[in-house]
Amino acid sequence: MAETYTPMLEQYREIKNRHLNDILFFRMGDFYEMFFEDAETASRELEITLTARDGGGGKRVPMCGVPYHSADGYIAKLIEKGYKVAVCEQTEDPRQAQGIVKREVVKVITPGTVLSDQLLPDKANNYLVVLLEESGLLCFAAVDISTGECMWGSFTGASKVAAMCDRLFCLSPAEILFAGKIDSAAAINEFIAARIPSCAYSSIDVEDFSALRKLPASHFGTDNLPEQEPARDCVAYLLYYLHHTLKSDLSHVNRLGRYDADAHLLLDNITLRNLEISRNLRDGSKKGTLLGVLDYTQTAMGARLLKKWVEQPLNQPTEIVTRLDAVDELVKQPAARAYIREQLRDVYDFERIITKIEVGTANARDLTALRQSLATLPLVKEAIVKLRAKLFSSAGGQLSGHMDIVQLIQDALVDNPPVATREGGMIRPGYDLELDELRTIARDSKLWIQNLEANERETTGIRSLKVGYNRVFGYYLEVTHANASEVPARYTRKQTLANAERYITPELKEFELKVLGAEEKIVVLEYQLFVSLRETIKRQVREIQQTARQVALLDVLCSLSEAASRHNYVKPQIVTDRELRIKDGRHPVVEELLQRERFIPNDTGLNHRDCEIMIITGPNMAGKSTYMRQVALLTVMAQIGSFVPAREASISPVDRIFTRVGASDDLSSGQSTFMVEMAEVSHILKHATSKSLIILDEIGRGTSTYDGMSIARAVIEHIKSKIKAKTLFSTHYHELTEMEGQFDGVKNYSVAVKERGNDVVFLRRIVPGGADKSYGVHVAQLAGLPKSVIERARQILSDHEQPDCRQIERAASPSPSPLPASLFSSGLSDELLALDIMTVTPLEALNILYKLQNQAK
Ligand code: ADP
Repeated sequence: MAETYTPMLEQYREIKNRHLNDILFFRMGDFYEMFFEDAETASRELEITLTARDGGGGKRVPMCGVPYHSADGYIAKLIEKGYKVAVCEQTEDPRQAQGIVKREVVKVITPGTVLSDQLLPDKANNYLVVLLEESGLLCFAAVDISTGECMWGSFTGASKVAAMCDRLFCLSPAEILFAGKIDSAAAINEFIAARIPSCAYSSIDVEDFSALRKLPASHFGTDNLPEQEPARDCVAYLLYYLHHTLKSDLSHVNRLGRYDADAHLLLDNITLRNLEISRNLRDGSKKGTLLGVLDYTQTAMGARLLKKWVEQPLNQPTEIVTRLDAVDELVKQPAARAYIREQLRDVYDFERIITKIEVGTANARDLTALRQSLATLPLVKEAIVKLRAKLFSSAGGQLSGHMDIVQLIQDALVDNPPVATREGGMIRPGYDLELDELRTIARDSKLWIQNLEANERETTGIRSLKVGYNRVFGYYLEVTHANASEVPARYTRKQTLANAERYITPELKEFELKVLGAEEKIVVLEYQLFVSLRETIKRQVREIQQTARQVALLDVLCSLSEAASRHNYVKPQIVTDRELRIKDGRHPVVEELLQRERFIPNDTGLNHRDCEIMIITGPNMAGKSTYMRQVALLTVMAQIGSFVPAREASISPVDRIFTRVGASDDLSSGQSTFMVEMAEVSHILKHATSKSLIILDEIGRGTSTYDGMSIARAVIEHIKSKIKAKTLFSTHYHELTEMEGQFDGVKNYSVAVKERGNDVVFLRRIVPGGADKSYGVHVAQLAGLPKSVIERARQILSDHEQPDCRQIERAASPSPSPLPASLFSSGLSDELLALDIMTVTPLEALNILYKLQNQAK
């Protein structure tokens, strides 16, 4: 026979059965209680006492609880630890309940659906993503429930998983749900675990999916829906999950956008990380990143939008120019910029306040923050109507001050309302007649009591008589025992204390009813008025969201202009001749770290006629990587619509930027550094086009010199002949400089160095021509290697530079590889050139190398 519990616990079990994956917060009076396993988990995770309760029939049931008014903090803690919390409320007044009070789960809180300020990053979005794969199409639907933003996208073909991973890295979701069976789940899971470790992921199953198919059309209308069924289904799953968790009508999620990869400069996750676009390599924060240098936003809405712009720059020249023109105008009008920024400082994150209004959690303070924010907008609008750039005229047209709402909130709410919504004190006098009357009664009661006290003292002659109040007996008249005999007959005794008697009179009781009733009524009425105010504002959710978007846009444009003026950037010219010309370019982040004066600017000229591939040689620490990243970052900046750190720049937008930089930190995945490097190079060769920009920093280092050099050369040749992408290639292999004469468009550059005896000065100037020395010993000395080691190294090096160096090399190396001095004069080059690197697997590559090496012995 099934175990039976007390009726209350039976109700609990019945509800819990529908929420097996959630921790159930079960409301009982002023507490949320947890039972059974949930209690054990919660007491452990929240460090609260685990107790037990009689479960019926003598059974003890584990239990723990948290007070309802501090529940948010506890819920936040559980969510942070990756749990989901189902909040179950009493849905009827316990005083009116017959038997067990009715209870219902009113919301389920998950990492992707949190709305608490404690958990939401204010300058970044908090995305929930659903993934679905069907008929070869890998789809996603993403929502930031805190702002209402919702979008979808899909990928096909061999690179769909890589494209999805890049997208996920950009979105950096708090929660991912796999809908149905996903063939690529393992690869995606692996990526999430390595690159977005804070993301919670689980699967979502629905018994009768056909019933949900109508959701996208009924929620968003039919206009913007994806054409492909799998993508529509993905949106359906997302909506289902939102309804299931938030249990609100989601009127703030009202626009379904499409992620269009073709409209953007694609920065894959490796490049986003390598170039430190929005997250640094050290701790993933914004410090020391391009975003960090450009972010002068004043509002959280602007900060979120700027992050998006920076991570997803544009690729269409006209759109880029539209942004640049707006930034330009604000650069030229510092007073207007300062004024707008000043106003924006007073603007709260009302995009998120609107969401709280929609789901009914906004309090009176949120509404006054909304009022204050909207009230500054007419001033902003006044400033932007004087500007001419296209973006300002369209923003100005769509920017509304919502004066009706400002007025309404102003009339309804006091200036500094309390946080609590059910304790009164929110509504301004004069807003509601009934409330004013009740308040008069409540306020006048003090005076009334003073009068009554004085009257009674006079009529009874008891000077010590006083009126008091307690919660059990209400109002009473208190007389000391000594005076008890003077008490008139109309007094009814209610309570005897050690030294006094307490009485009531009909008159006092009547007063009590009126006063207490008034106070209770005030609280109820204030709440009602507040809720109806919230509902009125809710009707304009769309319009206010629209305004929020314009505010974000203006904030971002101001931010980019502010950065441009502070850091002395110039407006890049956007060209379509596929050239990149930079005069005196600087690295935006390094120049900040070094203080601008010490940064040596450099020129760049890449085009498809005479300089398509730059081979950059030079000592370690000379500035090669800084230079290459600088070229990539200036391109990114221009395509964001930002000014660039240079004296002059004209930039043709590129479709993608690829980077292969430095040692990889992917060792955790069990692959060798060399393997990871080769996999990344293979990814680049597969996806780069003639419109891409490729940065390759010393590829081939992870293997022996001749292996590495062969691969490096073969890669350059492949890029040159097959891809034709603009490429910057830094290398230690001086042999590669031979390519300059052999291939049109391959040019040697090096970092200038000045020698003074044993001393070497890096001039940080990129100059034409290859470097003739490595100066590695010099760098080793700078790094503090023992003097004796440095001396010995110098000696070996100078011996090595003598004609009989081969012998020395053999003597120094236990397993000599007697390769010919120029690998490519041997027959091996034919074999290498015949290799199709695009299709060779890393393992095959290693085998081929092994064979070549054996041949060479
Ligand atoms: P490499 O790639 O040649 O080993 P890096 O690009 O890492 O060298 O540069 C090493 C250091 O030199 C950088 O951290 C930076 O501090 C400094 N540096 C690089 N380029 C410049 C420059 N143009 N002006 C001033 N300092 C620079």
